[in-house]
Amino acid sequence: SVKTAGKGSFRFFDPEFYEALRRDLDLELELRRAIEIDEFVIHYQPRMDLASSRITSMEALVRWVHPTRGLLEPKEFIPLAERTGMINRLGELVLVKVCEQLALWLRKERDVVPVSVNISPRQFNETDIARIFSTIMARYGIPPRLLEIELTESSMMGGGSHVLESVSKIRGLGIKLLVDDFGTGYSSLAQLQLLDFDILKVDKAFTSRIDDTEQGTILFTAIVTMAHALGMRVVAEGVETINQLMILRELSCDEVQGYYISLPQSATEMQSRLLSPAL
Ligand code: C2E
Ligand code: MG
Ligand code: MG
Ligand code: MG
Repeated sequence: SVKTAGKGSFRFFDPEFYEALRRDLDLELELRRAIEIDEFVIHYQPRMDLASSRITSMEALVRWVHPTRGLLEPKEFIPLAERTGMINRLGELVLVKVCEQLALWLRKERDVVPVSVNISPRQFNETDIARIFSTIMARYGIPPRLLEIELTESSMMGGGSHVLESVSKIRGLGIKLLVDDFGTGYSSLAQLQLLDFDILKVDKAFTSRIDDTEQGTILFTAIVTMAHALGMRVVAEGVETINQLMILRELSCDEVQGYYISLPQSATEMQSRLLSPAL
């Protein structure tokens, strides 16, 4: 409904507001061009199995090599890409870059670990993710065991037929599915069971609480119990200290990821680690 212009409408003539709006539009044009010419690099952050201390997988995290502003983190451009729909093309570009890298690694290394790719809610709901993955994997000769998909709870909200269909097609391809940032969204237990994910990544907000409050430990234990009952492995995100790692081991958490284990690193930096997967 159209509202009568009140006092607030004056802000459109506020130079600061206008300036912010212009910066947004500039960024949108820059991002559009960046996707066309590919100004992105992928950094990789390993996940470690607590029982064997081996790297089980690496997460692909996109960065924008901006011509004047340097290396930009996802929070600077992913929300804009999501709002404008550019995320669909950016998401495909990320997958292509990951598969290119995996193909290189496959030629050089004996043991290549899987790479997990973040798929945004919009890309998951608006595109045929399973088809996109199978096409790009075939182009680069990447076996499905080398790819994993991370979805947040908001991607699955509603749990409509598209969600169920996409999830079962992805599983049919043999690609593992992860729930990302678990605990920050609104997925129900029923939904989790129905969708049959392989791995639950517990949001770093929960990890940071295990060593400062008893409630934090209780909550984490409850999540582990639930995930295991549903047949899922549990990964703790955002592990920053040895103390957290030791508590997580006691709480029967399966895998850990975080700055304590490794920062996200370039493909070249990761490559040396692939040669010796035991950390
Ligand atoms: P995410 O998928 O939950 O990724 C984890 C984020 O936490 C990453 O931030 C990672 O660098 C950061 N992190 C890892 N360990 C620690 C730790 O010990 N402590 C703290 N404080 N942070 C840690 P990053 O790379 O800035 O990515 C932020 C988010 O942007 C990701 O959250 C993901 O939702 C999104 N994102 C990144 N790459 C992509 C992509 O290729 N496609 C899509 N759709 N989203 C992406
Ligand atoms: Mg993720
Ligand atoms: Mg996460
Ligand atoms: Mg996150």
